[in-house]
Amino acid sequence: MKSKKEYNILTDGYSLIAKLGSCPSCGQQVYTDSKICPHCGHEFTEDEYDNLKTRVRRRELKSIIWGLLFFLLFFALVFYFAS
Ligand SMILES: [Zn+2]
Repeated sequence: MKSKKEYNILTDGYSLIAKLGSCPSCGQQVYTDSKICPHCGHEFTEDEYDNLKTRVRRRELKSIIWGLLFFLLFFALVFYFAS
C-alpha cells in the first residue's frame, strides 16, 4: 500500500522531471515517467523531488514576475503615447 507521500511523488515528481527536462544527476534530458533516469540509471530520491519542486516554483514565480513587469511596461508605454 502506498503512503500519501509516495502518492505525491508519483503525481507531482514525475511531471516535475518532465517539466524540467533534465536529470539532477547527469543533466541529460528526461522525458520519461520512469522513476529511474534512462541515461545514467539514477533513481530519483525524495529530496531530489523536493529540490525539483522548489526550482520549478522559483522558475514559475520568476516568469510570473517578468510577465507582470512586461504587462505594466506595455500599459505604461500605451499611456505615455496616448497622452
Ligand atoms: Zn541521469
